Order: sequence, then C-alpha cells, then structure tokens
Amino acid sequence: MAVDVYLDHNATTPVLPEVADAMSEALRRTGNASSVHRFGRLVRRAVDDARENVAALIGASPANVIFTSGGTEANNQALRGASGTVFVSAVEHDSVFSAEPDAHTLPVDADGVLDLDVLRRELAQTNAPAVVSVMLANNETGVIQHVSEAAEIAHEFDALLHCDAVQAAGKLAVDFAALGADMLTLSAHKIGGPQGVGALVLRDGLNLEPLIRGGGQERRRRAGTENVPGIVGFGVAAASASENVAAYGAVASLRDDLERRVRNAAPDAIIYGAAVARLPNTSCIGLPGVTGELQVMTLDLAGVAVSAGSACSSGKVAPSHVLRAMGADEDAARSAIRVSLAADTTPEDVDRFVEVWSDMARRRDIRHENRRSVA
Ligand code: PLP
Repeated sequence: MAVDVYLDHNATTPVLPEVADAMSEALRRTGNASSVHRFGRLVRRAVDDARENVAALIGASPANVIFTSGGTEANNQALRGASGTVFVSAVEHDSVFSAEPDAHTLPVDADGVLDLDVLRRELAQTNAPAVVSVMLANNETGVIQHVSEAAEIAHEFDALLHCDAVQAAGKLAVDFAALGADMLTLSAHKIGGPQGVGALVLRDGLNLEPLIRGGGQERRRRAGTENVPGIVGFGVAAASASENVAAYGAVASLRDDLERRVRNAAPDAIIYGAAVARLPNTSCIGLPGVTGELQVMTLDLAGVAVSAGSACSSGKVAPSHVLRAMGADEDAARSAIRVSLAADTTPEDVDRFVEVWSDMARRRDIRHENRRSVA
C-alpha cells in the first residue's frame, strides 16, 4: 500500500510549490554568480536575495550567512573551523557528534535538557579556547535547550557557542541575537526547501578556517560554485517560514491529542521529554516490548510513515544515543518511534496513526498474556 499518511516531517518535509517553481526557473537561467557579465550578475542577485531571506528568518545580517551543502556541512564547518576544545551536548545530531572525534560530551537530565552547571564546571577547568555546541531543538524528542543561558556561560569563559537550529527553524521564532550564539546552523529541507542546501550563520566579526577551499565564493568562507537552484529554493522556503512561524504552534493541539490517545491505548507508553518545553510537532513515543523498527514497519504496511530514532541514522540498529543520554536503558532506547507532524497535518492523519498504533499495542498485550498463560 502506498504511504498515504506522512508523519515524518523532522526527517524532511515536502518542498513547497512556490519553492519548486522558483527552483525550476533558476535551473533554466544561465550564468555563474562569480561572472562579472550580466548573466552572472543576475544569478548573483538571486543568490543575494535568498541570503537576505535566510538572514531575515533569524534576524541575522545577510553578510554573515554562508551557504553550505546542508546542516551536516554547516555543523562540521562550525566545529572544525573554530579552534579550541570542543564540547557538545549528549543529545546532538550525529553531524555535531561526529564532527570532532575528540569532543567532550556534556550530560543532559532525564528530560533531555543540558545540565548548565556541568557546562560551567567543564569550561572553568579548561584553560584553553573552547567551542560549545548546543542544539536549539532536538530532532528525535523536540526538547528545547536553554541556548541563551548556555551562550552566556560560554562567553564568561571566552568560549564560542554554536547552535544547531536545524529542527527549530520554521517551528519556533528564532532570534539569532537573542540566542547569543556565535554560530548557527540551518537546513533548507526541514522548512519546505530542497535537500542538499543549508547555511552557517556567524556573528559579526567571527572568522573560521574554511572547511572547503578553492575559489573565493561566499567571501572566501566556502569555496565552490554555488548551488544556485538550491539556494534560491532555500530563500523562498525561508521567506515562507518567516511568514508562517507564528501560526505553526497550533499543531501542538493535534500532537497533544495524539499523545493522549497513545497513553489511553498503552498506559505504559513513554513520551520522552513531555515534561519540558518541546517543539509543537514532535512526539517521541516508547512502547516497551516492541522495537522501534517493528513499529515503523507495522505502521508503514498500514500506510503511515514515521521513523525510529533520527532519520539520518535510520537503517542503523543501534539504540538512540539521545534516549540513552536521557537515562533510557538499551531496550527502552530501541523501542521508540518519532512522530513528527506538519502545519497541514489533519485530525484524520492522527486518527489513522492512533488506530494502527493502538492495534499494535493491543497485539503486544495479547502476546504477553499468552506467554503468561503458557508459563
Ligand atoms: N541537525 C539536526 C538537528 C538535524 O535534524 C539534521 C537532519 O536531520 C541535521 C543537522 C543535518 O542536516 P542535513 O540533512 O541538511 O545535512
């Protein structure tokens, strides 16, 4: 059966029609943004318009936006381009986690929130330049971190603060200056833009060692002929996200309804991060005794798309490092799925998810019951 209910918007969300139109037009245009002639100048203008829209989404200055091949590259650029000891929260995306193999991991509490006292203690003991990476919202649980407080602490110790805002952008109002971050990562395909384009945004005056060297593109901060259609699409998606972000929070009522019904169907279900501030669209649900993979497959067979753990690492059988960091044991960390809604998710979509998921929970209970009676 074809997938007809898509609840995996944190993995990627559909390209907006106006994005596809703008990209298609950009693809038809000839010109290299580095060329001085009219063809080149027109393309450069399209890239710069996109840069303004992306900067406006987070209230940053366009000159400080570096376009990259996505969130992964931006995270790598941030952590490998700044010098110093790297500290990352234990719930970061793999692209932060693996960017610097010697990074120190900062623990989170049972709700998935970074322990700021540990951050302060660690920085106090580090007598060297440091870079701290704290995401704004987690891709698996949606849990929101206290980034501005983390930035204040980092700055007390002259450390840099990098914030991966890939999942937060478009879902929450993100104010770069208010966050106090020195660097911030965005990705187009989480906000209705294309896959394979993102940005690293820097605060005024910050210079990094470029990860990709060659030509003088992106003010010598990221070499390579620009992915013009991708950047144009990103710009249109960013403009749309700026317009719609205030209304996005309404999706929380559908998500909360989904969680209420999940708990009714299986009172032992675990909703990770439910006690703290989360993205309005995300639910990370543990069903003890049923692996995330099995849940995903069962839902998929019924036409409902969700993911087990983070999409970027799906296919890997390892338990979620995010849930492990929150204190879940291995079995529990293997038994969770992520359901992520969009602004246009309907009550019927949620009904279908709940119907299939509840049936799965019921069958689990019958299996347990049978096992008990055999024993
Ligand atoms: N950071 C977070 C929090 C993510 O969720 C993702 C993708 O899922 C990334 C970074 C990577 O972004 P991209 O897919 O653009 O490389």
